[in-house]
Amino acid sequence: MRSRAKSDALFAEALRCLPGGVNSPVRAFRAVGGRPFFAERAAGCRVWDVDGNEYIDYVGTWGPAIHGHAHPKIIAAVQEAAAAGTSFGIPHPLEVAMARRIRECVPAVDMVRCCNSGTEACMSAIRLARGYTGRTKILKFDGCYHGHADSLLVRAGSGALTFGHPDSGGVPAAFAQHTLVVPFNDIDAVKSAFVANPGEIAGVILEPVPGNAGVYLPRPGFLEFLREIASEEGALLIFDEVMTGFRLARGGAQERFGVKPDLTCFGKIIGGGLPVGAFGGRRDIMELLAPVGPVYQAGTLSGNPLAMAAGLAALELLDDAVYARLETLGERFERGLLEAAQEAGVPAQVNRCGSMICLYFTREPVHSLAGALTSDRDRFARYFHGLLDRGVYVAPSPFEAGFLSTAHTEQDLETTVEAAASALREAGEGR
Ligand SMILES: *Cc1c(COP(=O)(O)O)cnc(C)c1O
Repeated sequence: MRSRAKSDALFAEALRCLPGGVNSPVRAFRAVGGRPFFAERAAGCRVWDVDGNEYIDYVGTWGPAIHGHAHPKIIAAVQEAAAAGTSFGIPHPLEVAMARRIRECVPAVDMVRCCNSGTEACMSAIRLARGYTGRTKILKFDGCYHGHADSLLVRAGSGALTFGHPDSGGVPAAFAQHTLVVPFNDIDAVKSAFVANPGEIAGVILEPVPGNAGVYLPRPGFLEFLREIASEEGALLIFDEVMTGFRLARGGAQERFGVKPDLTCFGKIIGGGLPVGAFGGRRDIMELLAPVGPVYQAGTLSGNPLAMAAGLAALELLDDAVYARLETLGERFERGLLEAAQEAGVPAQVNRCGSMICLYFTREPVHSLAGALTSDRDRFARYFHGLLDRGVYVAPSPFEAGFLSTAHTEQDLETTVEAAASALREAGEGR
């Protein structure tokens, strides 16, 4: 057993001055029990805690770290930008470079607005969809997470799910009323929602590959169906690619699956590890934003030069070889985990899309939140701690994606699969 004395002391102090000891709920380890470790530094695919323990990291700061931590080119870009000033609130060349870069990679995007988080990006995209259509209602999918804006914390995934309250306190019922929630991959439910709310749905928002309740994939034809029905019904199709953007391909899930949304939300990877968000889409929609149009959206630190510099450096590094490499690593990891689960006699599903991966402890294939919820949470908690004790850090919740980076090596994966095999054997016993 590793010593985590310094982490434990910090956490005790954190509990006195930060609610739950954290600044974002899932970090508190409530879904797996025990106490979080405190990071001292990270490099490549490794994180070191304040007690000197080393972990192979599959969280990658929850998605951004596609090149691993502290990539020298990203660090240099941030240092160079910081030396010129940390924020201007004045138009800056890097903002234009970022917008141009996103446009080049994502054909559905003519124009971009940068903001400071994925939450802001989704909240603003929805305001824009409402402004464009003159309608109020939003259709979302159970288990998809789009940040913590009021109208989207309606049966949200991820943290909220982990805590076992489907909704959040503090969200007026009147706000939630405008959000329709249907199961992912359920064509009939989407049709019914449109039938029941004729001419009222402003937008359909989804994670094209949901990664906030584990990972599950759109069934063949599902995204195409959404494209079609949204167009027919005069609703905007909004892909929340905060997680999948630049991860599943340079053009995101929309490139991988060949479906073009009206609006796209970004975050995570496009900030290279700094706080960022962005949304973009068709020019006729985007030009409704202030100062051109009537839909207000703003931010003191939006387009921040450090975030733009870090993000541009990260995007610069994303060539074809990166995606080929991530696919190879992903296949290998998937196979390794499945074999380890089989050998341990643990019923498991390994869902994967590119470098996003999730291990569910269930016999049934998972295509939706309902499927994800059949995963054995106690077994996951034992598995999680078994891995942590062996120097492997996966997300401290059964309902999160794991991420591979180009910094992971075959050797790292092998070490991890061995650790997983032992952790699974233990997790399979001790009931
Ligand atoms: C992370 C995430 C968000 C929220 O982004 P924040 O930067 O945490 O506000 C929104 N949507 C998806 C799909 C995400 O994965």
